[in-house]
Amino acid sequence: MKLYSTLDKDIVEIQPVKTGQVSMYSCGPTVYYRMQIGNIRAYVNWDILHRALMYLGYEVKRVMNITDVGHMTSEDDFGSDFGEDKLDIQSQKEGVQPIDIANKYIDTVIEDFRALNILAPNGELLPVGLTHLDIQKYGFPRATEYIQEMIEIIKKIEGNGYTYETDQALYFDVTKVDDYNIFTGQALEEKEVGVREEVEVDPEKKHPADFVLWMKKVGKYEKHLMNWDSPWGVGFPGWHIECTAMSVALLGESFDIHTGGIDHIPVHHTNERAQNIGAFGHPAVKYWIHNEWVVNKDDSKISKSKGTKTYLPNLVGMGFDPMDIRYYLLSINYRTKIQFSHEALEGARNARIAITRRITELGSENGNLLPEFVLKFKDSLEDNLNMSKAVAILNELLRSNNQKGDILATVLDFDRVLGLDLDKVSVKEEGIEDGRLEELLSLREKAKIAKDYQESDRLRDEMYSLGFIVKDTPEGQKVERI
Ligand code: AMP
Ligand code: ZN
Repeated sequence: MKLYSTLDKDIVEIQPVKTGQVSMYSCGPTVYYRMQIGNIRAYVNWDILHRALMYLGYEVKRVMNITDVGHMTSEDDFGSDFGEDKLDIQSQKEGVQPIDIANKYIDTVIEDFRALNILAPNGELLPVGLTHLDIQKYGFPRATEYIQEMIEIIKKIEGNGYTYETDQALYFDVTKVDDYNIFTGQALEEKEVGVREEVEVDPEKKHPADFVLWMKKVGKYEKHLMNWDSPWGVGFPGWHIECTAMSVALLGESFDIHTGGIDHIPVHHTNERAQNIGAFGHPAVKYWIHNEWVVNKDDSKISKSKGTKTYLPNLVGMGFDPMDIRYYLLSINYRTKIQFSHEALEGARNARIAITRRITELGSENGNLLPEFVLKFKDSLEDNLNMSKAVAILNELLRSNNQKGDILATVLDFDRVLGLDLDKVSVKEEGIEDGRLEELLSLREKAKIAKDYQESDRLRDEMYSLGFIVKDTPEGQKVERI
């Protein structure tokens, strides 16, 4: 399989460390608020990569962390060492402890992932009833549960001479890594401009690009809410060390793929790579792969903090099915910028409904895979995850003159990667009991009012299986016969 490697600045053939197995680490959500459409994009893209690797026959060993401490706010959203801890701010806003904020928003991540058919890192669909209490077994380590591992790695980095300590923090000395700025190609002096304000906070900091490994509970952070004991005093870890500790603890000192949004390239991933070199004397990651942004109409990056109402429940409330959103995001290649608009999302919904209608017409005959189409589909996945092409092949297949049963079997095979619930599209031939439809609509209305989206989706699916498409419009639910 070929992917675009940010370090190679080129599309390269993926050659895993262990033949037949791909190890993959995905920078996960910072759980101080719900996921917005940009985060959802990242996770849909990497879910497609995960599923594509499995489809192509690889065994996938995957980890996605949960950041529940130490991710600081910053003007440019690139993460700064001396901003405010995002969890702390939200905890003050909501009047509860940071851990309660984290737990609450982890639960929303689980709900959104489930609704969007985003597989857990261990390859399973997240079961109904799963909460933050049980996520570790599904491949989601939490930063706050890996503090000891972080301390151990920091000790290694320190032992190898890559750090220095001030009254406020333990820093990574970036001048010790020759090719520190390999991602951006910038000279270190150029980087100074971007991070200048931080020097004013800690006058002992040597180079503006040096970054915090351990922040002490002093000065600005005297009131920081979550703290641990460490060889450098009571405090909390820097954001970048979290990912290094969790990836190495769970995937080893050399692994294949590390994913994240392009916002992570200049700082977070640059620093993760430096930490790997500081701790082990060599980089840990073979391929750094990044997704482009989802942006607003004015080209600005959509972010959680800017309250852009692109959270899944908002979009569902506007009448979109989670599968419309999944289809929208997966059909655009991961390195293409998406300018979010309702019109585009509506276009995706229409395209998806057209696909489901065609599948309904296919009936439910059994059939065999069509090798010519499977091959083309595989080729498009292997070709740097060319999903716009993969979707075009799906449509070509649906329009083809092959046996209906064979088309259906092949579509369902593709859905192992697409994850669009194409197997749930089936319509009963027989009629529907008098009053049943009205009853289901009223139950669904109540579920929506109670914000029980799972139940409302289930009811929508039940009506679908009875032959009706339910649409949410400003005037309420509208039903059409399929
Ligand atoms: P966060 O929860 O902010 O730590 O972000 C989680 C993931 O979403 C990271 O991999 C980010 O790079 C990615 N991400 C955040 N905002 C966007 C956006 N507007 N477009 C695409 N990816 C994003
Ligand atoms: Zn990360």
